[in-house]
Amino acid sequence: MQFIILSDVHGNLEALMAVLEDIRTHHEKGDVFFLGDSVGYGPDPSECIRIIKEESSIILAGNHDRAVTGRTDVSYFNPYARAAVEWTQEVLSDEDKAFLDSLPVSARLKDQGIYLVHSTPKEPEQWHYLLTTWDAYVNFHLFDERICFIGHSHQPVIIEMDPKGEILIYRDRVELRDGCRYIVNVGSVGQPRDGNPDASYALFDDRRIEIKRIPYDIVSTQEKMKRAGLPGYLIERLSKGL
Ligand code: ZN
Repeated sequence: MQFIILSDVHGNLEALMAVLEDIRTHHEKGDVFFLGDSVGYGPDPSECIRIIKEESSIILAGNHDRAVTGRTDVSYFNPYARAAVEWTQEVLSDEDKAFLDSLPVSARLKDQGIYLVHSTPKEPEQWHYLLTTWDAYVNFHLFDERICFIGHSHQPVIIEMDPKGEILIYRDRVELRDGCRYIVNVGSVGQPRDGNPDASYALFDDRRIEIKRIPYDIVSTQEKMKRAGLPGYLIERLSKGL
């Protein structure tokens, strides 16, 4: 059984379509799990929500989804992110907002030993970032499943903890080892921030976890953002992947 895990589309339709095309072309069909942040930053929030709904069997809420529906305080957002949230609030329908408002922030698949959360197992709705080995160590003790998939930082990584508590980091793939547990940041489809502008997503098939990077038509997305009047900083960062 294959699972496909996507996160942080952020209204970037070109990136989402490129990822779905890669899945259709190169991989057998499997359940798609979406870890949140359908919207915020990008120019096609409504269309992205529609496609994510169509493709995914589980959909979580991220902090931007919650910000758009008014359930998360935006005072800690930087001014660019806040401007994008306000723009998104104006263009989304009440139905889209009600849908975002209905989403959970985490999900458990007990039989498969999978835990899904947008931010971190620690206090999912506080929107912490998992960035250091210590953060990983702490969070491994806050879920019971074998594998936890996360998004939120837009920085893909596979973190392995062996039975002795030793932590190993893999960049883009790992063959699962007996007795080990994993936290996988699947990266961002629509706004990568690890210096690589290609869209990011993860595949998992019981034996192996892989993070794939997919180029997409960044210029088209940037042109739409310009026409929408979204902040220049958000437009430029897409081509740098920062
Ligand atoms: Zn995000």
